[in-house]
Amino acid sequence: PYDVLVVGGGPAGAAAAIYAARKGIRTAIVAERFGGQVMDTVGIENFISVPYTEGPKLAASLEQHVKQYGVEVITEQRAAAISKDGYVNVDLASGATLKSRAVILATGARWRDLNVPGELEYRTKGVAYCPHCDGPFFKGKRVAVIGGGNSGIEAAIDLAGIVEHVTVVEFADTLRADEVLQKKARSMGNIDIIMSARTTEVIGDGSKVVGMDYEDRTTGEIKHLAVAGIFVQIGLVPNTEFLKGSEVALTRFGEIEIDTKGATSLPGVYAAGDATTVPFKQIIISMGAGATAALGAFDYLIRNAAP
Ligand code: FAD
Repeated sequence: PYDVLVVGGGPAGAAAAIYAARKGIRTAIVAERFGGQVMDTVGIENFISVPYTEGPKLAASLEQHVKQYGVEVITEQRAAAISKDGYVNVDLASGATLKSRAVILATGARWRDLNVPGELEYRTKGVAYCPHCDGPFFKGKRVAVIGGGNSGIEAAIDLAGIVEHVTVVEFADTLRADEVLQKKARSMGNIDIIMSARTTEVIGDGSKVVGMDYEDRTTGEIKHLAVAGIFVQIGLVPNTEFLKGSEVALTRFGEIEIDTKGATSLPGVYAAGDATTVPFKQIIISMGAGATAALGAFDYLIRNAAP
């Protein structure tokens, strides 16, 4: 068995593994894909002390740093369940079970899908999730942003500087975004905001997006928007489905509940990063949380004898 098994190889998991390994204890990482969301990121300008880097480059440095400490890295394996019998057991989808005295969950999150016809078909052909990454492809064109929360309104403001026009499409009859963001968006000449609008379909011409339909929820009428890009900004979903029904408590949003040391409700199991209740989902925050969870787990190990 391991002393610390980290599930997830994003910034949180990498930081947790390094902090654990530096205590001289047997540490492993199991991950579906090393690097996590960072692998899908182009430019990164807010990783403090590094003015500019790119996702794959940062992910490669993370892996190199982890391997320098002799951490066992197991990739292309998905955790499917967790249980405890003295040791914490992590069952993999492949059928194997990994045993460890302590486990750190750092399985991150993914963008929430719209789940409407055309979305999957036109993903990367006009349907986008990251304004920072894909905004420049729509220079001079009309785009829609689905979602009027902070991320949607931030995306609209960001895109308005690049594209010709942005329409924000919000399901509810009010915007959830902070007032200061709404004010900023309303002050920009090329942002329209439509409320009470349920997106019903992504329309394409066979090779790329040409528009979208939505239902006006006040009248039931179906309306059309001619756009070249659709940025989906309706939230992040934590990758915690495999914990449902386990002793690890989740919020109603599926986020892992943690305390200030990163401890979950199951003794010996810690968590960090986007998969948890941490309010901000960022690289540097995930790394700090990973370090916290590893120190929390080490604290647990020195207080609890091996089974
Ligand atoms: P993740 O990076 O999501 O990593 C999760 C890890 O867990 C992965 O290795 C994954 O394969 C693995 N995993 C998931 N489920 C399982 C399972 N069941 N079993 C085994 N392994 C599993 N943040 C910034 O600070 N600056 C930016 O510029 C920035 N830009 C971004 C751009 C994009 C396109 C995206 C998507 C995100 C961006 N972010 C940015 C956010 C940042 O990437 C995340 O906050 C950060 O990666 C979270 O780290 P994490 O380790 O918690 O999770």
